[in-house]
Amino acid sequence: MRPKIEICFWGVRGSIATHLTENSHYGGHTSCISICYKKHWFVCDAGTGIRLLGQKLAQKKVPVTILLSHLHWDHLFGLPFFKPLYEKNRKIMIVGPSTKTFPFRKTLRQIVRSPYFPVTPQYWSSKMRLLGVGEKRLKIGRIVVEAKWVRHTDKALGFQFYFPNGKRIIYVADHNLKASDKQFAKWIRNADVLIHDAQFDKKEYAKKWDWGHSCFETVVEVALNSKIKKLVLFHHDPNASDKILDKRLKFCNKKIRRAKSKLKCCLAKEGFKILI
Ligand SMILES: [Zn+2]
Ligand SMILES: [Zn+2]
Repeated sequence: MRPKIEICFWGVRGSIATHLTENSHYGGHTSCISICYKKHWFVCDAGTGIRLLGQKLAQKKVPVTILLSHLHWDHLFGLPFFKPLYEKNRKIMIVGPSTKTFPFRKTLRQIVRSPYFPVTPQYWSSKMRLLGVGEKRLKIGRIVVEAKWVRHTDKALGFQFYFPNGKRIIYVADHNLKASDKQFAKWIRNADVLIHDAQFDKKEYAKKWDWGHSCFETVVEVALNSKIKKLVLFHHDPNASDKILDKRLKFCNKKIRRAKSKLKCCLAKEGFKILI
């Protein structure tokens, strides 16, 4: 049997964590997902959801690659709470966006220090490696990870994973997606799974068009046109209750049925797993 890829959602919110009864079904932690293939563990973003993943991976001798889409708080806040970071000799690589103005390694060290947080990277594993990237293809084991700049309020990366079994997974956490963006549409075309920012609906987007996020209506439209197999709406607004999110999914499924497409659409939910 072909080895499966397991995607698991540990945090699905954008902006800020929210733990209220009305959003408990989808969960309140901020962005963090894991992708596991054989013994390779990839962690996309280090929002508050990463803490529980850290408990699961503690003491396991598997190499971990953490990919940070960008350094906004909702994607970084959980990093110092990731247990494996404090295990001696633990092999961990942290990849993040790097520019001339904000070189990744220097910028990260400037954030994770007093007076903002008392435990600095000098306490992290001696085998921890920080790698700043722009648009780049990285080979980790037999898996290729491609980083691509996406439109956001600060420099942010999307990641595409190419697995040896031919599967492709794309993770784009924060992105102001335009339906007219042909380059992006080409990049995602025919992917097996697209996990994408869907923070707003059209009405909210009209007011907050410069906040760097997408509206779910555009995301489903682009996914349909790009022949995506599975779309996962992600980075839910902290104000979007379970009820609101359920309505969004209904709208998307109606649109997909009308288009007579085979696209499968779902909402990211804490604890939810996808096997492909
Ligand atoms: Zn975010
Ligand atoms: Zn952001």
